[in-house]
Amino acid sequence: MDYSHDYLIVGGGMAADAAAKAIRERDAGADVGIVGAEPHAPYQRPPLSKALWKGDKTPADIALGTAASGAALHLGRRLVSLDPAAHLLRDERGDSFRYRRLLLATGATPRRLPFAANERVIHFRTLDDYRALRGYAEPGAHIAVVGGGFIGSELAAALTGAGCRVTMVFPGAAIGAGRYPDGLAAFLDDDYRARGVTLCAGVRVADGRAGHDSVELALSDGETLRADAVVAGLGVTPDTALAEQAGLAVDDGIVVDAQLRSSDPDIWAAGDVARFFNPALDRHLRVEHEDAATGMGRHAGRAMAGALDSYDTLPFFYSDLFDLGYEAVGLLDTRLEVVEDWREPYREGVVYYLERGRVRGVLLWNTWDQVDAARALVAEAGPFDAASLRGRLPRGA
Ligand SMILES: Cc1cc2nc3c(=O)[nH]c(=O)nc-3n(C[C@H](O)[C@H](O)[C@H](O)COP(=O)(O)OP(=O)(O)OC[C@H]3O[C@@H](n4cnc5c(N)ncnc54)[C@H](O)[C@@H]3O)c2cc1C
Repeated sequence: MDYSHDYLIVGGGMAADAAAKAIRERDAGADVGIVGAEPHAPYQRPPLSKALWKGDKTPADIALGTAASGAALHLGRRLVSLDPAAHLLRDERGDSFRYRRLLLATGATPRRLPFAANERVIHFRTLDDYRALRGYAEPGAHIAVVGGGFIGSELAAALTGAGCRVTMVFPGAAIGAGRYPDGLAAFLDDDYRARGVTLCAGVRVADGRAGHDSVELALSDGETLRADAVVAGLGVTPDTALAEQAGLAVDDGIVVDAQLRSSDPDIWAAGDVARFFNPALDRHLRVEHEDAATGMGRHAGRAMAGALDSYDTLPFFYSDLFDLGYEAVGLLDTRLEVVEDWREPYREGVVYYLERGRVRGVLLWNTWDQVDAARALVAEAGPFDAASLRGRLPRGA
């Protein structure tokens, strides 16, 4: 088959959905096609490790309703080649897709554990991964969660809530070490332990063996961990294969300009796969979070349909850890100068991350509706120090 669309979007995630809707808003008669490797129409990913486990939402609730954009959905197809000169892509079945303007919204792929996996080893990213994990998450089942970052810490909480026995294995000194101040990270470790999670901190998975009724992990401290299933949240790598093969500029992500256009004038990129310049932080970023996916998707869609404004948003992100939660902007990196301002230690407060007198990141811990104020602070020239920051933003709800 030979398909052709005026606007073609590769990837069927949150950035793709936002782009398709934005194109339609600007160009009512637009012919838009989306090609996605997953069999599902675009859906929200964050609930896969949160609301779906609490029973707040069902898989049907997380669908984004992309069809309303009028885009033709070509699902369950992976595009494997891109010829920018011919404006032509091919999928793995040999079908071809022509475009006038192309958006690469291919997202990111989870890093894998260093052994041959079977269905009991889940590198968590998709709705199908959620369904697979749910199948093993019987009350009393032992699930090993590998990784102490966003995905690992959220899934450990979700699985504990589902009645599973959970062991977390992660290389850092504590949950979120390097991102949260030491005291907060230690508090989180205690909180997780108190809720029944076993923590193996400072430990890596060296090897493993996936059997038909359990998985055995060989840990770097010499211990062996046996679990009914293993779920890994080891971070992701941007899915730049098509861009690289097409010769676009790639540097840990597809490099885009202020309109989110790649080094090819007819190709844009958005979401987890794109590397963009942020004026407030004065550096290039690649952000693996929802606000970037939807905001950049929308922006790229508008740009493809002729808008000329710049994407200069500093994306925010958020996470939930049992009954704690936060929103944040910028760089959360404890190698920066860290200023903590707690209303109640580790329960409600604001953490500022400073570099040479400028605020580079703000962690709003159980503190809501302050994202724009935090963004403004990051954009301010300063100079700031601990004394001028304490009390600057309201702490707590
Ligand atoms: C479990 C989980 C929880 C999360 N929680 C939060 C949160 O609490 N807060 C937050 O801010 N962010 C969160 N995120 C991150 C957020 O969901 C992502 O940043 C966002 O989904 C990225 O969207 P995207 O469209 O750029 O890429 P993706 O969602 O990765 O979508 C890309 C799609 O493109 C497809 N694709 C790739 N290559 C091809 C190809 N060659 N041909 C066809 N299709 C292709 C992929 O299969 C995929 O479906 C979470 C992510 C996960 C996985």
